[in-house]
Amino acid sequence: NQNLYLMLKAGFPAAPDAPALETAEGRRYPYAELDAASGRIASLIVRLGLKPGDRVAVQVEKSPEALFLYLACLRAGVVFVPLNTAYQRSELAYFLGDAQPSLVVCRPQGEALLKELAADAGVAHVLTLGEAGEGSLPEQAATCAASFETVARSGDDLAAILYTSGTTGRSKGAMLTHANLASNARTLHSYWGFRPGDVLLHTLPIFHAHGLFVACHCALLNGSLMLWLPRFDVDTALRLLPRATVFMGVPTFYTRLLEQPGFGRDSGPNMRLYISGSAPLLAETHKEFEARTGQAILERYGMTETVMLTSNPLEGARRAGTVGYPLPGVEVRIAGNEGQALPQGEIGHVQVRGPNVFPGYWRMPEKTREEFTADGFFRTGDLGMIDAQGYVVLVGRSKDLIITGGYNVYPKEIESYIDEMAGVKESAVIGLPHKDFGEAVAAVVVAEAGAALSEADVIGSLKGAVANFKVPKRVFFVDDLPRNTMGKVQKNLLRDRFAAEAP
Ligand code: ATP
Ligand code: MG
Repeated sequence: NQNLYLMLKAGFPAAPDAPALETAEGRRYPYAELDAASGRIASLIVRLGLKPGDRVAVQVEKSPEALFLYLACLRAGVVFVPLNTAYQRSELAYFLGDAQPSLVVCRPQGEALLKELAADAGVAHVLTLGEAGEGSLPEQAATCAASFETVARSGDDLAAILYTSGTTGRSKGAMLTHANLASNARTLHSYWGFRPGDVLLHTLPIFHAHGLFVACHCALLNGSLMLWLPRFDVDTALRLLPRATVFMGVPTFYTRLLEQPGFGRDSGPNMRLYISGSAPLLAETHKEFEARTGQAILERYGMTETVMLTSNPLEGARRAGTVGYPLPGVEVRIAGNEGQALPQGEIGHVQVRGPNVFPGYWRMPEKTREEFTADGFFRTGDLGMIDAQGYVVLVGRSKDLIITGGYNVYPKEIESYIDEMAGVKESAVIGLPHKDFGEAVAAVVVAEAGAALSEADVIGSLKGAVANFKVPKRVFFVDDLPRNTMGKVQKNLLRDRFAAEAP
């Protein structure tokens, strides 16, 4: 039986009262309760008539019960489909129509809308689960048996469908198998040196691969306690950091910690590992964090379709601006536009293969075919290179690559220069339509408070530093870069916003 739950359970502590979760209010949930509660929900799923392979779409706040629901889906052999809590009517209608779930679990306040959309999509059941663990799902589960024999699954059976973040276009449903998730969980658990006594501070959302798979699987497989917060809140995070040994975050969590004047070495006396991913960590954040805490953030790279691909090492140099080595068992190669293999040091398309790579997009056979090469590598859509030490360096997404007058401009190169300038907080370099060049380079800059920085200053300091075709033709100043919940800069929004002001 290759059911992922059984693999995770093999890591649960022998003592049944060992704590699995602790909430911000100090409520503890032992491992035995996690097993029993997930068993009850799995029993309910079977009682409702769902069969292995049926989908369960879930749009709920993060709570201990939300995690039990995920584990219950694994155990019942149904496919877990988490949805971003920010999604509204039209997005939900699309996801329900696409995933065709047999059961939808939603927030109590979302029940009326979801019932309406579920009826349109032909969904049989709608249940509720609130942030405090209330709702019809837990009420009905309470009447079900806690003991549940985890359904047999083969490694190729689907465990979850996760919709991609939609940064570059419409979200696609990535199908992930029990074997995909199990292999990545084992690899990360060992690569990051999880050990007895580790405590994970968990502040990420669990509708995304980062919080759901990377964080939870490592902790569960290790039988660790997770300090389980509904969201990242800097005060609560600072209060609980002293009890944690591992923290995982998106780059914005780290910049928010650094904004706290008191944050430093003493803030996390037991911390052994700070991990960052989901979006590029600025080299500056990495350096400042190390200077303040004495700890180098470990940056890693992955995506919904593949879970984790590369990581900076646990022992050895964690180099700012790189995403580290390919993980054991993961092949990473760099290909040119014609698919040819590129030599070390050259920038091209990042392609990957391994037991962690998904079998394809849900009900999108053509898209799936397009994104895999003949020899089974997945085209990640990211651009990067492998440096002389074997570290992978990402330079942006292929959809964000700017081609101006036939020349390639990699946004990250120009962003790094701009970010180094005095008075600049951060920047995003984008291509805007241009009648002669096809695209023109433009920079969107967030200045430090009080900095008097002009368009001419930015352009002036880049001239001579980089080739002329790379120098932005326009520089726009904004208060903040638009970001989604995972901290990813939404360049499509910037392109739309400034299209009318193209040079
Ligand atoms: P969509 O595929 O719908 O456009 P998305 O690619 O943003 O959205 P995710 O699967 O959540 O959806 O994100 C994966 C992407 O996040 C990667 O392809 C990569 O571009 C980016 N990413 C993840 N980790 C890092 C990192 N450490 N540094 C830079 N980029 C990263
Ligand atoms: Mg993507």
